[in-house]
Amino acid sequence: MKKRSDFIAVNEPYLHGNEKKYLNQCIDDQWISSTGNFVRSFEDALCRLTNRKYAVTTSSGTTALAMALELLELPKESEVITSNFSIIACSNAIIQSGLVPVFIDPSLETFNIDAESIEKAITPKTSAILLPHIYGLPCDMDPILELCKKYNLKLIEDAAQMHGQMYKDRPCGSFGDISIFSFYANKLITTGEGGAILTNNEDYAQRANSLKDHMFSKERRFLHHGIGYNYRMTNLQAAVGLAQYEQIDHFVKEKRKLGTLYNERLIDLDNQGIIKLPIQKTAYAQNIYWAYTLVLDKYSGDNIDVINKLREFNIDARPSFYPLSAQPAYKQEGYYCDNQQKYPTSFKLSERCLYIPSGIGLSTQKVDYICDVIKKMCN
Ligand SMILES: *Cc1c(COP(=O)(O)O)cnc(C)c1O
Repeated sequence: MKKRSDFIAVNEPYLHGNEKKYLNQCIDDQWISSTGNFVRSFEDALCRLTNRKYAVTTSSGTTALAMALELLELPKESEVITSNFSIIACSNAIIQSGLVPVFIDPSLETFNIDAESIEKAITPKTSAILLPHIYGLPCDMDPILELCKKYNLKLIEDAAQMHGQMYKDRPCGSFGDISIFSFYANKLITTGEGGAILTNNEDYAQRANSLKDHMFSKERRFLHHGIGYNYRMTNLQAAVGLAQYEQIDHFVKEKRKLGTLYNERLIDLDNQGIIKLPIQKTAYAQNIYWAYTLVLDKYSGDNIDVINKLREFNIDARPSFYPLSAQPAYKQEGYYCDNQQKYPTSFKLSERCLYIPSGIGLSTQKVDYICDVIKKMCN
């Protein structure tokens, strides 16, 4: 697909650091598979970013989630509480591990699930919480960590959208028994495709390293005591990842600058109750605006109408998530639920929420243009 130069993409990777230099090093040295020094260097960098003892890179965020669930060895068919407003990778990982997803409606303000609604969903069958932080603000972790202690639940923290984000003075990615990152092209740190598991538990880390590499035994090559996978990240990907990591402080600053710029330009629409802008901060975190969201309030059309109109002006946008409980893929399953009364916020957001271009390199001129178009649409 040819890129139209006048088309403003919803996100573009920002590859202006050492990415080329490190990739060239891989090619010059011929270390292009998962064996190579950048993999280790990138994992060390991820440990520094999250204050973790261990980071294990993977082929994607999705495979990191799958491994996380396998490593925790949760009782078969036990329940894992998760958000109804996230990417399907979360609930698929639960289902594919032989576990049952229990969906929770998120907050309309933060898009995240909270301890109060999680506690209401806990049953004797609950074994874990798979907790994604959505769009830019982390979940309120302290009360959730207390719940995990009180009910003896494992926590899988999905920090795919939160590289460099902090909850109070603690980095996202530091909270779960196992936490995961994705490095897909639209994430704050990207390797094109890729992911990682983060943990302080040596046993989890060792098993993750083995599982992701076919569980090769130490005593003899091609002898295996267990069934593993190939979920390895390549040295090429890790080279890009390390270069991206070096720029994370800049990325976070730029994201916040972009969010602030949008807030300034669009505040009138929020004041008039036409469109709700993302909240700038909570008591425990400042928004990182991984995706800059608009929630249509008095605006008469739905998110798909807005996206189609923006496209006429060469502006790309995306609708927010569709409720996981109501995915057609789950129609035959016991946890399927398309009852809008049970999940009012997920259903409302699926029709009223969208996100607009939020890439790091987006110029002020383009932001001005996008905001002018949105304001014109609202009048
Ligand atoms: C992107 C994302 C994933 C999946 O990661 P992939 O690398 O695309 O497999 C999982 N959870 C959340 C919250 C994400 O944003």
